[in-house]
Amino acid sequence: MTAPTETAIGTPARVSPSASVLGSVRDAAARLGTEPEIVDLLSTSWRELRAQLPVRMDNRKIQIFEGYRVQHNGARGPYKGGIRFHLSADIDEVRALAMLMTYKCALMELPYGGAKGGVMCDPARMSDTELNRLSRTYMQHIHMILGLNRDIPAPDMGTNAQTMAWLMDAYGQLHGHTPGIVTGKPVELGGSYGRDQATGRGTAVCMREHARSERIDPRDIRVVIQGYGNVGSWTARIASEYGFMVIAVSDVKGGICNPDGIDIAQLDRHFAIARSVAGFEGAEPITNDQILELDCDYLVPAAIGEVITGRNAANIRARVVVEAANHPVTPDADEILARRGITVLPDIIVNAGGVTVSYFEWTQNIQVFRWPLERVNEELENRMLSAFGQLMARAAKDGTRPRQAAFDIALDRVATAIRLRGFV
Ligand code: GLU
Repeated sequence: MTAPTETAIGTPARVSPSASVLGSVRDAAARLGTEPEIVDLLSTSWRELRAQLPVRMDNRKIQIFEGYRVQHNGARGPYKGGIRFHLSADIDEVRALAMLMTYKCALMELPYGGAKGGVMCDPARMSDTELNRLSRTYMQHIHMILGLNRDIPAPDMGTNAQTMAWLMDAYGQLHGHTPGIVTGKPVELGGSYGRDQATGRGTAVCMREHARSERIDPRDIRVVIQGYGNVGSWTARIASEYGFMVIAVSDVKGGICNPDGIDIAQLDRHFAIARSVAGFEGAEPITNDQILELDCDYLVPAAIGEVITGRNAANIRARVVVEAANHPVTPDADEILARRGITVLPDIIVNAGGVTVSYFEWTQNIQVFRWPLERVNEELENRMLSAFGQLMARAAKDGTRPRQAAFDIALDRVATAIRLRGFV
């Protein structure tokens, strides 16, 4: 499943996102000797809900959106995963992201299974009142498969703490006040301190630990980040706190590059006014395609999936690709990068800080108790260090790549839970 199929004219056909994740799972299953029944069980979702979402727009017309909630596997605990509002959030994309959550939670030793939700829409072109109505309509269609001990959504691309507040409120109207039904809420409504920065913090910790393993000072490491949303911007802030030299960043409106390093605090002041990194003085403009091919040490795709493909993998000039986005590297690109000696740190560890602090938020909600920020960051750091350490040790022991080691550890844990429950 990992190898892309060849078309008649020899161009590799696109491997669907879920087939691409399944490729990593089958590859791990072959190394581990996992029973075929378990691989079959994990090849499809436990449950997929598709809903028609009619929403009255500000112009009084009804627009019909399509929404999904996919629960991939719950052997290790309640389903957990974000909700994506994006035009590319079709059923296969959501299915692939749900699968990734199963393995991400297992790798981080969080007591959860994997799920994901999505609504095909362009939130940048919708007003707050439209997004509020869409979020509530979506909740009215999925609440029956959610639950504090059943399935707990969270933010993802195109959604944020405000979206979670609307979802929590809509769920509460049907079931009574249940703050732990979603994570990534505003702090004022039971959210956890540190949840907004958690994914970027986890990514920066992985970069710091990798640099440590290479015995290279972060100040000698040039970092390029594609995406300046929640994940990209927090990665830039915390990585520069750790001493890394961020030389280029981009967002949907364009990118900027300064080989001598970008002052992230200054960039944030520019961003607050311009709502984009584009136009920042003290850096040269570049495009989103060019940014991926810059000469650098660590390349961090922190936006959408499938940005490093068979088309551009040969042009990547980074030493290490740090997958802050979910599945930013296609399987054919993964092979090309490996052949070229470029290390890929996989998404299921690099961006796992978000779901880890979601877990802390859920436990705080259940106990009706709040942790201070220092405790959240310390416990996040400990969990990232432990998972990253286990992964690198496994890769060294087995002579595998980091993605392979990550899936080996995660699949082993998921398969063990399936066996113990007596599913097979
Ligand atoms: N959407 C994030 C992810 O892909 C976070 C999920 C969560 O917090 O449940 O990992």
